This record gives sequence, structure tokens and C-alpha cells, in this order.
Amino acid sequence: MARRFDKNELVIATHNAGKAREIADLLQGRVEKFFTAADLNLPEPEETGATFKENAELKALAAAKASGKVALADDSGLSVTALGGDPGIYSARWAEKPDGTRDFAYAMEKVRAALGNSPDTSAAFICALSLAWPDGRVETVKGRVDGHLSFPPRGDKGFGYDPIFIPNGYDITFAEMEPQAKHAISHRADAFSKLINLFF
Ligand code: IMP
Repeated sequence: MARRFDKNELVIATHNAGKAREIADLLQGRVEKFFTAADLNLPEPEETGATFKENAELKALAAAKASGKVALADDSGLSVTALGGDPGIYSARWAEKPDGTRDFAYAMEKVRAALGNSPDTSAAFICALSLAWPDGRVETVKGRVDGHLSFPPRGDKGFGYDPIFIPNGYDITFAEMEPQAKHAISHRADAFSKLINLFF
């Protein structure tokens, strides 16, 4: 039986303020007080896992152990079938240019080049969400949204790989959708609804 979240304080294990705000919004009304890893000056662990789940768990556990509070972490990315799941857990890293800056136009071009003429353009966004307790207990849920890739990139909403991803049942990319429409069907929304049902 999964352990429920029974404390009124939650650490969001990220140093990314935008991500922390999005997570706090998704859990609005269910948690009394949020902290971020940055608020508490927690060290940022290296993402050494081989899967989304392993990375989400290691981030949540590190924050829970360092803070003594329940902590939540996510790990997400784009998984392309014809690329054996790449860029996957390396989605952010594929955007790193030789000069160290991050550029998703560059990352999307890398995906296009790797895909070549492959007839299979199917892909999914995946999100692992882990809730960890200071005693080392950790629970993880996964969310996904399936679709296919389309080039050239289209749309200026969203972020990351949104301009090349068309979710199943639509003919526009995530970057062409209104944010509320994307948030209703996204991998993150799927994972959060599972998390809320199980633990909150
Ligand atoms: P994380 O912050 O380490 O989980 O990295 C996730 C990376 O996956 C981001 O930098 C994006 O490149 C990509 N990604 C995750 N979710 C989305 C999404 O909803 N749209 C577009 N790209 C995403």
C-alpha cells in the first residue's frame, strides 16, 4: 500500500523557478507550504540514473534526506521510437551547444538529422514524478503523451521540443496549442493526476 502524503510541507526538488511554480500550481490547495531546493540551499545531485524513474527518484530522495521533509521531483523528456528512445533522459543535454549554451532549435535539428528518412515518426513525451520521504521511502508515477514528430518546427508557444511534437488526435504541434490545452493532455498532467489520486 502506497504511503500517502500526510504532512503540510513539501519540498519541490528543483532549482528551476519556472518548474517549481508550475508544480506548485498543479498542487494548489493540496499542500499548505511549499519550499524549493533553491529556497533551502539543497545541493543539486548529478542525474546519473539510466531512466526517467531513476533520475526522478535520486533527485527526490536527495532533497528529502537533506531537508528532513517530504520532497517531490520530476524528470521528463522526449522519447523517439525510431531513435531507440533518444533523446530520452538526455533531452536537455541534446540542446547543449559546444559553447555551453542551450538551444532547442539546435536540438530539434539534431533529432531531424538522426531520424533521416525513417517512416516511423512516432514519439512520446514522458514524465516520471517521485515523492520521497526522509526515511528513504520513495514512490514514483509515470505519465506520457503519445504522438508523432513533424518538421520543420511550428509554433511559438511552449518550450523545448514542443514545436516538432503533434499529439495523437491533433494536427497542430504542442507549440501551436494554447497552454491550457497542452496542460490538459500533457505527460506532466497525466503524471500529476496519478500522483494526486494516489498520495494526496
Ligand atoms: P528535465 O528538466 O531534466 O526533466 O529536462 C526535461 C527536458 O525534456 C527539457 O529540457 C525539454 O527539453 C524536454 N521536455 C520535457 N517536457 C517537455 C515539454 O512539455 N515540452 C517540450 N519539451 C519538454
